[in-house]
Amino acid sequence: MTRISLRDVGPRDGLQAASAFLPTEKKIEWFRLAAAAGVPDIEVTSFSSPRLLPQFADAPEVLPAAMAMGGFGVSALIPNRKGAERGFALKAPKLNYVVSASNAHSLSNVGRSTADAVGEFGEIVRLRDHLGVTTELSVGIATSFGCSIAGRVPESDVLRIAEELLSLGAQEISLADTVGYANPRQVARLVKAVMGLAGDVPLLCHFHDTRGLGLANVLAALDTGVRVFDTSIAGLGGCPFAPGATGNINTEDTAFMLESMGFATGIDIPALLDLRGDVERWLGDERYSGAIARAGLPKTFQTAG
Ligand code: ZN
Repeated sequence: MTRISLRDVGPRDGLQAASAFLPTEKKIEWFRLAAAAGVPDIEVTSFSSPRLLPQFADAPEVLPAAMAMGGFGVSALIPNRKGAERGFALKAPKLNYVVSASNAHSLSNVGRSTADAVGEFGEIVRLRDHLGVTTELSVGIATSFGCSIAGRVPESDVLRIAEELLSLGAQEISLADTVGYANPRQVARLVKAVMGLAGDVPLLCHFHDTRGLGLANVLAALDTGVRVFDTSIAGLGGCPFAPGATGNINTEDTAFMLESMGFATGIDIPALLDLRGDVERWLGDERYSGAIARAGLPKTFQTAG
C-alpha cells in the first residue's frame, strides 16, 4: 500500500491569516489533538518578525513544546537568515525556507529579489553547517504556477531556481501554488520536470484551493509521483500579500480522497473533524471550508488501512 504524507500547515499558514492571537497553550493542544488524529507532520510556527506577525511571537515556546511532544514530524517556517538563527538555536528538526519564483512577488512579500532570496539560502546552509546542528532544510518555491502581481511565471525560471537551491543543499523542494493559479496539466508537467532535477531529494506540493482546483491538482501531482502534500485543517490559510488567495487545500477532504482511492494517510478523519470544531471555537470568525465537514463521510467509506 502506498503511503501519502500530509503536513498540516494550519498552525502556520492558517494562523498567519487569522485575526485573533491563539494563546500558546491552545496551539499546543492543537498539536496534541492533531497527532492523536494521526496527522503525521505539522508546520507548527513561523520564525518571522514578531513585530510583523505577532501571531508567532511565541515561536520560541511553541517549537520546543511540539518537539517534546513527539509522535509527529515538526517543522517551522523561516522567512530569512534571522529566522533560521532562531530555529537553529532551538535545534529545530526541520525548517522550511521560502523563495518566490516571481521577482515581483518576492519584492512585495519579503522586500528582496528572488536572486537575493536564493543567495540567502546558501548563507543559511553555511550557518547550519558552521553551528553543527542537524536541522533539515526544506525550501518552498512560492508562485511556482503563476503570480497575482507578475502573471505568468515561466517554468524555466522555476527550474533554474530549483536547480540552484538543490546545488546549495536543499533537502526537500516544495512547489507552491501560492495564489491558486495552477491547473492539473501544468502541475503534472512542472512536477515531472522538477523531479528530473531533484533525483532522490523529495518533492512536495503546496496547493491553494482559491479557484477550486486544489484536489484536481493533488491528483495530477500524485499521478506524477508526489507523495507529500501540504494541507490545512478546515482549509485555513492564504498568503496575506496575495489578494484573494485564501484557502489552502483542506486536510479532511484531501485525506478523504486519498483514503477512498486506497492510499494510506494514517489520518482518522472523524477525529480530525472533532479538532476542526475546536479550532473553529478557538478562532471564531474566520473563513472555514471543506466538503466532508459539511456533508459527512459517505456510508461506503473505508480507510485504506
Ligand atoms: Zn499556503
